[in-house]
Amino acid sequence: MPRDPKHDCLFEPIKIGPKTMKNRFYQVPHCIGAGSEKPGTQALNRGMKAEGGWGACNTEYCSISPESDDTHRVSARIWDDGDVINLRYMNDTLHKHGCLGGIEMWYGGPHAPNLESRAVSRAPNGTASEFEYLTYSHEADEDDIKDLIKLYGEAAKRAEQAGFDIVYVYGGHSYLPLQFLSPFFNKRTDGYGGSLENRARFWIEALTEVKEAVGSTCAIATRLAIDTLYGPGSLEVADDGLKFVELVAKEGVLDLWDVNIGDIAEWGEDAGPSRFYKAGHQRAWTNEVKKICDIPVLGVSRETSADDMAAHITSGRLDIIGAARPSISDPFLPNKIDEGRIEDVRECIGCNVCISRWEIGGPPMVCTQNATANEEYRRGWHPESFNAVKTEESVLVVGAGPAGMECARVLGERGYDVHLREASSEIGGCVKDIMRYPGLSEWGRITSYRQIQLDKLKNVEVHTGVGEMSADDVLEYGADKVVIATGSHWSTTGLNSVSHDPVEGLDASKPYICTPEQVFQKKEVGKRVLVIDGDGYFTGISMAEMLVDQGKEVNLVTSLGSVAPYTHFTLEAPNLHRMMYEKGIHEKTLHWVEKVEEGVATIYYLYRDGYKRDSGPTLGKMPRREGTDVIKMEFDTLISVTGRVPNDQLFRELRARKSEWEDNEIKGIYAVGDCYAPGLLADAIFSGHRIAREFESKNPQHAQPWIRERQVWGHETYPKISDREVLG
Ligand code: SF4
Repeated sequence: MPRDPKHDCLFEPIKIGPKTMKNRFYQVPHCIGAGSEKPGTQALNRGMKAEGGWGACNTEYCSISPESDDTHRVSARIWDDGDVINLRYMNDTLHKHGCLGGIEMWYGGPHAPNLESRAVSRAPNGTASEFEYLTYSHEADEDDIKDLIKLYGEAAKRAEQAGFDIVYVYGGHSYLPLQFLSPFFNKRTDGYGGSLENRARFWIEALTEVKEAVGSTCAIATRLAIDTLYGPGSLEVADDGLKFVELVAKEGVLDLWDVNIGDIAEWGEDAGPSRFYKAGHQRAWTNEVKKICDIPVLGVSRETSADDMAAHITSGRLDIIGAARPSISDPFLPNKIDEGRIEDVRECIGCNVCISRWEIGGPPMVCTQNATANEEYRRGWHPESFNAVKTEESVLVVGAGPAGMECARVLGERGYDVHLREASSEIGGCVKDIMRYPGLSEWGRITSYRQIQLDKLKNVEVHTGVGEMSADDVLEYGADKVVIATGSHWSTTGLNSVSHDPVEGLDASKPYICTPEQVFQKKEVGKRVLVIDGDGYFTGISMAEMLVDQGKEVNLVTSLGSVAPYTHFTLEAPNLHRMMYEKGIHEKTLHWVEKVEEGVATIYYLYRDGYKRDSGPTLGKMPRREGTDVIKMEFDTLISVTGRVPNDQLFRELRARKSEWEDNEIKGIYAVGDCYAPGLLADAIFSGHRIAREFESKNPQHAQPWIRERQVWGHETYPKISDREVLG
């Protein structure tokens, strides 16, 4: 289908300093866990986006010196020739598709914990970071400032050698240049502190250094948090934010503004989860920049709608559409818009599970919607193409939740004859409930994307409302292979990770106890609600919010150290805590449930036992004082979010009847998603995708090996030990 003419503006080239970008789709810097040390992953992840039509792709934040080392998290680094070689591979890959490569040069100041380098960062002041624990910087004197500026220039030259087209001085998210600019950080009284001109001096000198170093061959960009959202005393758009843009404009040292909002300690205000912020939420802050400068301006806001993107360009609010999460969820978003295939865009759901991996530290980024994200190199997966099989084999997929839908879709793309059978009247599985929680409606895109794709596949039949299949039904169905994707359910007995046992008296068949599923099935919920949460992600807190919105009084008890701790990694936690406070949801953390009776739960503090061992091994007795303190909490309805249980009865019965498979001409029966082991939605979708990709392996239940990027002993690395000035 041809492109909609109203989207033509998105495909016009644009000049950025000495470079020309072929269109207006720009993958802003974002982390993937590859850095400079996994060059294959780095190059092929970004390269996939280049193939998918993005006009420019950036590294994640890229450290310019060991003084700025973000270990345990993974940043890129441009410290030496080894990094130049590794990052050049990314640029070579991008350039094959006419895509520009960008590097976000980063110096973190006190926000760099330096756990690997053991260096000390320098900064405008020596105050500890509000983002890291126990991380102080050395207050830079004027010689230090000259050194720091030189670091940017030297790193820029290495970036040029690595083939980068766009070189950033990164000041968003409260890193070093913004630490000089913002009075929240900068308490200096010399020429780099006090007035706006003084506070802006460092950033402008760094830009000037970089411009002089590489400005004739590379475009110079900067990322500015135009408003840190702290109110007065920091950076506000209507004050220092826009005034700084004007100051930089006078210097003529910049080719591209990349503007966002927020800081690093609460960077969910920038990478807003869909629970709180819809696409375009930053525009009210960033719209003004374009009016006061004459160089290209780009901004992010998790936009997936081509109409909205085009409107930003035609209205003159932005020149370029910046995107991180939409490019992860669909690396082929530009090409799909270009080809008029809007319905094929795999829209980001704003869950921030991608970000959770960076926040956790080392593991590679994953994406809920796009199971191939970061698997381009190590597993050789392409998001839009699949190894076709020439087969007459038919596959029965039982269960159309996230794992089953994805498995059927990928098997269908590969050419299998697939029947996807769903007991209930609609596909979607647990997503049907999840999207009804406050703020989570966009999570329904998990289903809508797959519904559209399944409808297009002529070799996939989707049967809904067929009721639960028995083992006999499956054996007699006539499929060559079977995939069981029957999901999981919340324990009806309080089975939990604290005791690994049910909770005494907890029985969801009683009228005063509900599982989340029962709440959605309209089981009656009384006025006073007690949510017990042993899960720690979105279900307990979402249920609490949903019920408080219905006028209930809600208490939440969790065994964990804070409510919904996984939401710290998805950047939802700060605003979830504000929501709880504002809506009057009361919490009790580090407590668990001993016993449930009608109207009252007996709760205990997890650390009520003696704080030291007070005996040696004594059979039948704990070697410390056993605490017996309890608290009684009254309720009308207790909501049990203690743990999930796989719906694996069908799978286990079929496995037990393996001797009957051959007679029924069944070659294999496998399980995917929560019915094998409950996990994140991203894990369930990955599981369905992975087994479909590897369906012809000897036992697709278990994954094929992937390429591991690591130093292999006996091969040269950079830097060499002989590069050191002193061997001590
Ligand atoms: Fe979007 Fe979630 Fe994928 Fe991140 S993990 S890109 S937020 S769908």
